[in-house]
Amino acid sequence: MSETRELILEAKHVTKKYPASNGRTLVANNDVSLNIYRGRTLGIVGESGCGKSTFMRMLVSLEAPTEGEILYHGRDITKLKGEALRQHRQHIQMVFQDPAAAFNPKMRIRDIICEPLLNFGRIKRNEKDKVARKYLEMVELPGDFALRYPHNMSGGQRQRVGIARALALEPEIILCDEATSALDVSVQKNIIELLVKLQREKNIALGFICHDMALVQSFAHQMAVMYLGNIVEVLPGERVAAGCVHPYTQAMMGAIFDPKMDFDKPIESIESEAPSPLDVPTGCPFQNRCDRCMEICRKEHPVLRQIEENHQVACHLYA
Ligand code: ADP
Ligand code: MG
Repeated sequence: MSETRELILEAKHVTKKYPASNGRTLVANNDVSLNIYRGRTLGIVGESGCGKSTFMRMLVSLEAPTEGEILYHGRDITKLKGEALRQHRQHIQMVFQDPAAAFNPKMRIRDIICEPLLNFGRIKRNEKDKVARKYLEMVELPGDFALRYPHNMSGGQRQRVGIARALALEPEIILCDEATSALDVSVQKNIIELLVKLQREKNIALGFICHDMALVQSFAHQMAVMYLGNIVEVLPGERVAAGCVHPYTQAMMGAIFDPKMDFDKPIESIESEAPSPLDVPTGCPFQNRCDRCMEICRKEHPVLRQIEENHQVACHLYA
């Protein structure tokens, strides 16, 4: 990522806690600081339950952080309310995992795409057809789909409609939460190619949450690895395979894909389960699964620090 990139959204020391039973506290995000730049993709990866969706819900102002700030062009958006919040929502749009559940099944595609535009008074009712066709073509679907209902489409087509709807407000940022995870591998690839193409044309910033590391590193300019609510490593996607250093990132990468794999050796993967976010250990969150755990790792929480340009890691091995 070049230094001249414009910073649009900045999460600073964001923590999200939920009250749990018996007076306990669940820490879903712990001191997360991440940046989103114009025209660039931030991938967030990590196992199910590590806090990815919680973080994204805060970025789109569906929830407020317990601590920390989220700055949009330098202004904290966590305290926006009422009309100011409503207006702000236009700039950051979201594409969900399951478009079938996200859309009203009784609405035609035309109305699904145009609903946000009508809500913000940006088009007139008699322009719906023309506008819907324009955005359908943008996501490489036939304009005639404007009159269809969501159930008359495939999962991949519905997800293209989800992207068309997000694009319609001309946002600066589109956040995708497992937006391709329910699709077949080939369809998933096509959707990502579409997102990358639209990003280049419109200079949109993308946030892309996914539990599939191999997929995200193939197109994320910056990839953040999350573990038990903590960011443990941030580095450019293209450098992940050869250059990741956190034992968790390495284990995840080793578990999925190694082009030079020695098939005589057992495939390395992580055996045990992640601890519960209700019960985060003192010290490093990854200690109980790490094969390089040291004494300090059980006592001190490792902070995220820069080890080379565009590469941060939270691990005592690199202190
Ligand atoms: P991911 O998207 O990475 O799978 P989530 O962000 O959905 O993870 O969840 C992180 C943790 O926070 C999980 O342990 C989850 O159970 C918990 N969590 C998420 N939302 C809530 C909520 N509204 N109330 C209580 N706990 C929650
Ligand atoms: Mg999730």
